[in-house]
Amino acid sequence: MRFSKLFGKTLRQTPSEAEGTSHQLLLRAGMIAQEAAGIYSFLPLGWRVLRKIENIIREEMDRVGGQELSLPVLQPIELWLKSGRYASFGKSLFTLTDRKEHVLALGPTHEEVITELVHKYVQSYRDLPLLLYQIQTKLRDEPRPRGGLLRVREFIMKDLYSFDVDEAGLDESYQKMIQAYKNIYARLELPVMMVEADSGAIGGKESHEFMVITESGEDEIVYCSNCGYAANIEKAQSAKTFVPSRSPEQSEGEALNLEAKDLLPVKEVATPGAQTIEEVANFLGISPCQTLKAIFYSADAEFIFIVIRGDLEVNETKLKNVLKRNELRLASENEVREKGLVAGFASPIGVTLALKIVADNSITIGSNFVAGANKPGYHLKNVNYPRDFQVALLTDIALAKSGDNCPKCTGKLSSTHGIEAGHVFKLGTFLSEKFGAFFLDGNGTPKPIVMGCYGIGLGRLLAAIVEQSHDNKGIIWPLSVAPYQVYLCPLHLDNPEVSSAAEKVYQELQKRGIEVLFDDRNDSPGVKFNDADLLGIPLRLTLSPRTLQSRSMEAKWRTKKEAQLLPLGDATIEISRLLNTLQIKG
Ligand SMILES: [Zn+2]
Repeated sequence: MRFSKLFGKTLRQTPSEAEGTSHQLLLRAGMIAQEAAGIYSFLPLGWRVLRKIENIIREEMDRVGGQELSLPVLQPIELWLKSGRYASFGKSLFTLTDRKEHVLALGPTHEEVITELVHKYVQSYRDLPLLLYQIQTKLRDEPRPRGGLLRVREFIMKDLYSFDVDEAGLDESYQKMIQAYKNIYARLELPVMMVEADSGAIGGKESHEFMVITESGEDEIVYCSNCGYAANIEKAQSAKTFVPSRSPEQSEGEALNLEAKDLLPVKEVATPGAQTIEEVANFLGISPCQTLKAIFYSADAEFIFIVIRGDLEVNETKLKNVLKRNELRLASENEVREKGLVAGFASPIGVTLALKIVADNSITIGSNFVAGANKPGYHLKNVNYPRDFQVALLTDIALAKSGDNCPKCTGKLSSTHGIEAGHVFKLGTFLSEKFGAFFLDGNGTPKPIVMGCYGIGLGRLLAAIVEQSHDNKGIIWPLSVAPYQVYLCPLHLDNPEVSSAAEKVYQELQKRGIEVLFDDRNDSPGVKFNDADLLGIPLRLTLSPRTLQSRSMEAKWRTKKEAQLLPLGDATIEISRLLNTLQIKG
């Protein structure tokens, strides 16, 4: 490809709308162009990268026995009503009405369509297992598109669906896919951390994400370097401990009792001016873990009373999951007052209204807590569950954080950030049951097909590579997905010796099947080198009057500082050899 003919322009300045490294570099390199919020065009250079990523994914899906097909973007809304996911996707689901007044969804994912399809074709256990996939456009009405290709409304995704006769079969498919994903990341030279994840709107019981670790990532990950436990913050657990500090007001005996877990009688104390957990704990000279905190939510319009230990925060994803609700928000001051509760001094004790109380299981770890007295300026000491109050639901709804104890070993948790670059789910049978996707087992008994689904967003992956692999000059593409393998960069093209040598090298490289971007522009060396670095093509070949004096050209890898001189005569053979060695290694 001749640079002078290439569609798309490199930019000297970072466009003002660009947020984050990959967004800036991809715009500046002329690889993508924004059309609207979360909607992008891929220009020829960006599209070449995307197509290479696509091919790697396709090869790895085919290698494990995946069969490629293509499902429609336009989906009858009835499928979404049938699955029950119309509500869980909520406003993220794009819908439209056709000329006959039929409502259609623009597919954000394809479990509904494929389950319906498999239901029509699979009858017997002999038809299973199946791995079916497509690489296709998805549409989601993201509330906050941002970060360039990292969070968009239209994107290309590889989605594979597995269909098995039982859980053991699903486990096998799941492991196969995890291995295939690991192969993909290895070929893209993208280090990832596999973490436990929340299933979100997709549903199902178990899921994992592959995270590219980078400070700019919008996902928070909690992990233990001792045992390898790792989870998305939405899902992460920690081992809750109780480390009380003795109150200066307490007698020696009272403190001992507290440690011995003797339940003391409830006692009202004045706590003037102390409202937050920190203020109350300071005022009473206790640790925040010795307090109970009340928080109020509106979940799909139902008022929910949360009780959690004062040292912990509510994990809203966990809460949404245990409540099986789609919309969750903090209740307003008015809503709290209407229930007869006193914000800042609220307590689960004596709440006789038909209020739904959900508690974190931390309230059972420790005893003799301080809780609100439901009147301004007062708290209650020695509050104990279940002696003093009842709850509708007692479970883990706490947010894990760095420094907490690992739930799996004696280590401590750390936290970091990442970009989700792949997500796998064990769906189980909830969809096949809804769609009547049953098969007959060996005894002729109908059973629901056990499903899994596995997604990778291609543009997200492309952006993650850039986030992970760049320097202050530009992108550093791995050879496996670089838009071109070689950047041929002749300097002083007005010199006929340079231009004819460059033309010759260009022809020879192409004859050897090497992908070359030939910078045939009459620009200064500075402009050309800057563009070469910005575009991140792995090998730069420079021809100049100076290198021609020694009948050679200069070869420089994007990843290396030093260049080497290659004699012109065998240069293209040597380059082809170098690229092949690298490719085999990758
Ligand atoms: Zn651990």
